[in-house]
Amino acid sequence: MKKEIFLCAINNILSGTCLEDCKFCTQSVRYHADIERYNYKSIDTIVNEAKQAKANGALGYCLVTAGKGLDDKKVDFVARTAKAIKAEVQELNLIACNGTASIEQLRYLKEHGVDSYNHNLETSENYYKTICTTHSWAERYETCQNAKSVGLQLCTGGIFGMGEEAGDRDSLLDAIASLQPESTPLNFYHPNKALPIKARNISQEEALEIVKKARKLLGEDRLLMVAAGRELLFDGCEELMFEAGANSMVIGNYLTTVGDTPSKDREMLKRLGYGVAKTCHG
Ligand code: SF4
Repeated sequence: MKKEIFLCAINNILSGTCLEDCKFCTQSVRYHADIERYNYKSIDTIVNEAKQAKANGALGYCLVTAGKGLDDKKVDFVARTAKAIKAEVQELNLIACNGTASIEQLRYLKEHGVDSYNHNLETSENYYKTICTTHSWAERYETCQNAKSVGLQLCTGGIFGMGEEAGDRDSLLDAIASLQPESTPLNFYHPNKALPIKARNISQEEALEIVKKARKLLGEDRLLMVAAGRELLFDGCEELMFEAGANSMVIGNYLTTVGDTPSKDREMLKRLGYGVAKTCHG
């Protein structure tokens, strides 16, 4: 058998209600993208979905909320959700993805069972000003540092193909590596007609180059995930991304786009000769 692949599932527990202006994001209310928008899911529903994700082979489970960052209500809800999942689902690495977060908020999440914090740098510091004007890249970097400072694992990555240049891609990868994250999601822009960024400027070859560079910079022992955009760039040739250095992927749906079914993904891995990892740090 070839290497084992780590599977991660995403639960969008508060969707589509963000006031920020990130030009790649359908969850911003500014662009009126045709997505499902809802307030908090019930904790029972989220726990049941976590059980299903675990049954599908997920080792990581990511609780995502739309919005710029944590506030008192959100931090309380995510903490109670994390505690409820940990009480009922064993050996699931819980990741919170809730935007800008202070040291106190992150410490509170950790105390309630969150293992890891996901906050993506998205693109280079220089290009960030072009894709978002309502908050800064420096703020994103600081949240990543905050997560590490309280002992949470850090999951940080970005999105490629949003009109950036090659230098921006290298700069983003260097910035990610400087944070020494345990896990890095590489997303490839998924165009949506409602969004200001209309097209994706990345080829499969360029995406593979990014995977290779990321693996080299991050080291062999880290999780490197091909996340959003996998189906657009690697459908039917996933082996290329694993050979380039990826060892993790999302199963099920993404935040606002539909992914392949988990059984189809598991069949794909089996057909290609990859195993499904059973522990996060084995
Ligand atoms: S802050 Fe997050 S949820 Fe809001 S628009 Fe930006 S990426 Fe989307």
